[in-house]
Amino acid sequence: MEETPNRLRELPSVDRVLADPRVVALAQSHGREPAVDAVRRALAFARQDIQAGGKPGDLLTRVEQELAAILAPRLRRVINATGVVIHTNLGRAPLSEPARARIDEIARGYSNLELDLDSGVRGSRQDHVAEHLRELTGAESALVVNNNAAALLIVAAALAKGREVVVSRGELVEIGDGFRIPDVLARSGAQLVEVGTTNRTRTGDYEQAIGAQTALLLRVHPSNFRIMGFTERPALSELARLAERAGVWLVDDLGSGSFVQLPDEPTAAESVRAGSHIVTFSGDKLLGGPQAGIICGRAELLDQVRRHPLQRALRADKLTVAALEGTLALYRSPERARKEVPALRMLEEPAELVRKRAAELARLTGGSIEPTTARAGGGALPLWDVPSYACALDATLAQPLRCAHVPVIGMVRENQLLLDCRTVADGEVAEIARAVADARP
Ligand SMILES: *Cc1c(COP(=O)(O)O)cnc(C)c1O
Repeated sequence: MEETPNRLRELPSVDRVLADPRVVALAQSHGREPAVDAVRRALAFARQDIQAGGKPGDLLTRVEQELAAILAPRLRRVINATGVVIHTNLGRAPLSEPARARIDEIARGYSNLELDLDSGVRGSRQDHVAEHLRELTGAESALVVNNNAAALLIVAAALAKGREVVVSRGELVEIGDGFRIPDVLARSGAQLVEVGTTNRTRTGDYEQAIGAQTALLLRVHPSNFRIMGFTERPALSELARLAERAGVWLVDDLGSGSFVQLPDEPTAAESVRAGSHIVTFSGDKLLGGPQAGIICGRAELLDQVRRHPLQRALRADKLTVAALEGTLALYRSPERARKEVPALRMLEEPAELVRKRAAELARLTGGSIEPTTARAGGGALPLWDVPSYACALDATLAQPLRCAHVPVIGMVRENQLLLDCRTVADGEVAEIARAVADARP
């Protein structure tokens, strides 16, 4: 114990460590400030070790480690082995190759984001995606904002502020981390009028609620849950007819939205065809594009939304526009989208191919093959059980794999760690195997 103060005194000063040739080289390649931070942190840890009665170890190695930690990105690629395709905690939809290429091209330099090249006058960033959206949905006009929550907020603010929005009690849902339809409506300045009951709402319920103050009927996709059994809700086309008769607008919040036919998920085009005046949906759920909120519908209504002051605050940035254009272009051929949009490809991959990937991973890691159920996630298709296969390992590996060089995120069930191979790419199997080898004691 006696020698602790001496050992503390033996620690060099920050300046002396900084003068060491190895540290000088580090400061030259990575900058002086991070190098000084790393030296301070290394010395602080060494001091703690000595005070705890231990040995401080090699100081310069420690400086290198601290510098690496300071410079390492916090937002990192991870391997999704959860079997949840649109995983909100893991960044929702991975982007297709063409969408990534568009981001890369536009991010590198200047672009005609708001310049009309023909006339040389100011253009709109919306023009780059509007035509694709009109073609894909059949709507007259389209607008892209930051996300679907923003889409709903601006639509309600522009069309229903100070007036009433009629919503079924069965559709007042909470989505994700505390995003609640009634709260969004309250923020928009519109007044919510609830109709019907949790499980049954009829056209007549909407009809009775419509008065002089009514601006919109809002239909909300229940997304992450379903009410089963004794249930009823009017067909969208019936609500559209009622809206026309009563002289109010019908807005359909599709949640995920889709441009291809999937079980139990309405497409945006179907909603427009059924008579919705406005349809809103996310860019990064089943569409498999960047985070965005897409608003499609009647030109006169979209003009009102476009002119609202919130539009400037909620608009999509150029990288989003670029990635969305790349994604939408794929959907002009649905077969191509099914092959190239990662979220769709994962959802529709034959189970036999998933099993082969799980078998390969099990062979490389000494794990076993387990049948599992994968999910669409992102509040879409909650009842769609997608047959899948996982490689099962010991649950004690869950934490070290999360902290691996490329983190691997699986699902712990009882005392097993299940690495579901539906959301794992072929090229990631060897990476997981290496991480497992490193994680084992
Ligand atoms: C997911 C969802 C939203 C919110 O969409 P974000 O793109 O996450 O903002 C809104 N409404 C419904 C019905 C949803 O499912």
